[in-house]
Amino acid sequence: MSMNAEVLTVGNELLNGHTTNTNATHIARRLTSMGFVVRRITAVMDEVEEIASVVKEVLARSPALLVVSGGLGPTYDDRTAEGIALGLGRGLVENSDALDQIRSKYGEIEVTPARRKMAFMPEGAVPVPNDAGVAPGIYLRIGHTEILATPGVPREMESVLENFLNRYLVKRPSVVYAERSFKARGIMESVLAPHVISRVKKYNLYIKTHPKGREVGDPYLEVQIAGSSPDREELLNRLESCEKELREIVAKMGGIVE
Ligand code: ATP
Repeated sequence: MSMNAEVLTVGNELLNGHTTNTNATHIARRLTSMGFVVRRITAVMDEVEEIASVVKEVLARSPALLVVSGGLGPTYDDRTAEGIALGLGRGLVENSDALDQIRSKYGEIEVTPARRKMAFMPEGAVPVPNDAGVAPGIYLRIGHTEILATPGVPREMESVLENFLNRYLVKRPSVVYAERSFKARGIMESVLAPHVISRVKKYNLYIKTHPKGREVGDPYLEVQIAGSSPDREELLNRLESCEKELREIVAKMGGIVE
C-alpha cells in the first residue's frame, strides 16, 4: 500500500510571485525518493485561518505525513505554529525543550519576547533541532498522520527535514523508489505516446516524456521512467528493461537516443 504525503508551504511571498517555491520541490523530491507518494502541494498566505483550514483538510485525508514549511520565525507575520494549533484544535503553548534549544543558540544574547515566540508550539509537539538557524521544527503525531513544520529559509528547512527523517519519523515506506531517464531527438511526443502508454501497462512504471524542444520542427524529449517496489533489485531490472525497449523504439522510428 502506498504511503501518501502532502506538503503545505506558507508565505505571502510565494503567492505574490516574489519567491519561487523551491522548498515545495525539494521536499517533494526528498519524500518521493524515500518511497512516499506526494499527493498534494498547497501554498497559502501567512494567515492563521488559511493554515488551519488546510491542516484540517489534510487530516481528513489522513496521509502518513504532512510537511509544512515557512512562518516559524520571530516576526509578527510568522503565524504557522498558531495556524497548525488552530487546525488541530489545540492550544499554543511554550515548549520548554524548544526554549532550551533557542537559548543555546543565542548564548549570551538575551532571549527577547520575539525570540521566545519561536518556542510556542501546539500542545503535545516535539521540537526538531535546526542546525542552520534558530527556530526549531515542530513534530506532531495526529492519528495516522505525522506532521513536521520547518522554517522557510531553504537551508534551515533542509536541516530540520533531515533531522526529522533521520531521528523522528516513525512510519517509513516499505518500498524503494528509483528512476532513470534518457534523451530522444527527432521523435515527436505524439508519435511516442502510444508506445509509452503500452510500456506503462507492461512494466507498471510511471513514464513521462518532457518536451525540451519543439514538437513541430525540432522535437527533443527527455524520457523519464520511475517506479517503486519493495524489492530494489527487481525494480532496477524492470526500469532497465523498459528503458532498453523504449530506446529501441525511438531508434527504430528514426530518432536519435542520447
Ligand atoms: P525565519 O526564522 O528566517 O523568519 P521563517 O520560518 O519565518 O524563517 P519565512 O519568514 O516564511 O521563514 O521565510 C524566510 C525566507 O525563506 C523568505 O524570505 C524566503 O526567501 C525563503 N522561503 C520561504 N518559504 C520558501 C519556499 N517555500 N521556497 C523557497 N524559499 C522560501
